[in-house]
Amino acid sequence: LRILGIETSCDETAAAVVIRLPDGSAVTEADVVLSQLDEHSAYGGVVPEIAARAHVDALDTLIEEALTRAGISLSEVDAIAATSGPGLIGGLLVGLMTGKAIARATGKPLYAVNHLEGHALTARLTDGVAFPYLMLLVSGGHTQLVLVKGVGEYERWGTTIDDALGEAFDKTAKLLGLPYPGGPAVERAAATGNPKRFAFPRPLVGEARLDFSFSGLKTAVRQAAEGIAPVTDQDIADICASFQHAISRTLKDRIGRGLQRFKETYPDVAEPALVVAGGVAANKEVRQTLDTLCAEHRFRFVAPPHHLCTDNAVMIAWAGLERMALGMPSDDLAVAPRSRWPLDQDAKALLAYGK
Ligand code: ATP
Ligand code: MG
Ligand code: FE
Repeated sequence: LRILGIETSCDETAAAVVIRLPDGSAVTEADVVLSQLDEHSAYGGVVPEIAARAHVDALDTLIEEALTRAGISLSEVDAIAATSGPGLIGGLLVGLMTGKAIARATGKPLYAVNHLEGHALTARLTDGVAFPYLMLLVSGGHTQLVLVKGVGEYERWGTTIDDALGEAFDKTAKLLGLPYPGGPAVERAAATGNPKRFAFPRPLVGEARLDFSFSGLKTAVRQAAEGIAPVTDQDIADICASFQHAISRTLKDRIGRGLQRFKETYPDVAEPALVVAGGVAANKEVRQTLDTLCAEHRFRFVAPPHHLCTDNAVMIAWAGLERMALGMPSDDLAVAPRSRWPLDQDAKALLAYGK
C-alpha cells in the first residue's frame, strides 16, 4: 500500500510518500517539509493569513517534489491522506481541498486525518510500538497525555487548562527578549544558568487528575525579570534554567501519575511504553526527565527522531495507511476541515461507522 500524505495545519507545508509493507513496517519514499519560520518570526508567532497564503504558494511544488523523490507518478499512489484538523482553518482548507482534488482526478480514496492522530501513531512507524500505550504530545499548540488503545481509539487522560508547553517556552522567550521560536533559545540560555536561583511554581503538582497548567509559570517568570534591573545575560540564563527545572519537576509528577494509572488499567501489558511527540520533545532536559521516569516505572521510553516529532506529512500518510490496512472506510469527498477536533471524538465517529 502506497499513500501520498499532505500536512498544512499550522506553519509547516509538508508532503510525503510512504509505503506500508504486509508485515506492518513502513518505507518512507519521500518526506518534504517547508517551514514558514522566516515568514512568521518577525511577528513572534504564527499569523494565520500569512500561513494560509504560504501553503497555497508552496503545496503544489512540494507534492511534485515528493513524487519526484519517490520516483513515481500520481497514478502509482493507492490513496491520499490529508490533515483535516485540528489547526488553522485557512491552512487546513488548502491541504484538504488539494487532497480532494487529487482524489477526484485520480479516482483514489481520500483519508481525512486528525493531526493529533498522526502524532499519536508515529511511534508505530518508527519503533513498531504495540497497542495500548501512552502518548505525551507537547507542541506549540497542544499538551496532552493520551491513551492510545488502537487506530481511532483514543482516551485523553490529561490536557492543559491554559497554555501549551511549547507556548510557555515561546512566551517566556519573548518576555526575556530571546528570539522566536522560544524553545531552542530558552534551552540554549538555560545551559549556563543556575536552576536553583528562582523557585518557580509547579502547577497542579500533587493533584490526582492528570491535567497541566503553564500560564502561572509564565507570570512568575515575568515577575522575576521585572524584579531585576538591569537584567544581565546571567540573569536570563538563571531564569531559563529555573524555568526548565520547574517544568521538568511538573512533568515528573504529572506523567508519573499517568504511568501509574496505565499500570493499574493494564496490569497485564508486559512492556508498557510512553511515546513523546511535538516540538518540545527536542528539549534535552524534558527528554532526560521522561527517560529517567520511564526507567523508574519500567516503561519503555520511545522518542521518534526530531523531524517526525514536529509537524510533517509522513505521520499523516502513516495514519492513513493504518486505517487502510485495517480496512476502515475512506472519507467522503464532502468532508469538511475542522479547526477544533478533539482526538477522543475519533472513536465516536468510528463507532458511527459501525466498526
Ligand atoms: P502543533 O503541532 O501543536 O499544531 P506547532 O507547529 O507549534 O503546533 P511543533 O512544530 O511540533 O508544534 O513544535 C513547535 C514548538 O516546540 C514551539 O513552541 C517551540 O518553541 C517548541 N520547541 C522546539 N524546540 C524546543 C526545545 N529545544 N525546547 C523546548 N521547546 C522547543
Ligand atoms: Mg510547527
Ligand atoms: Fe503538530
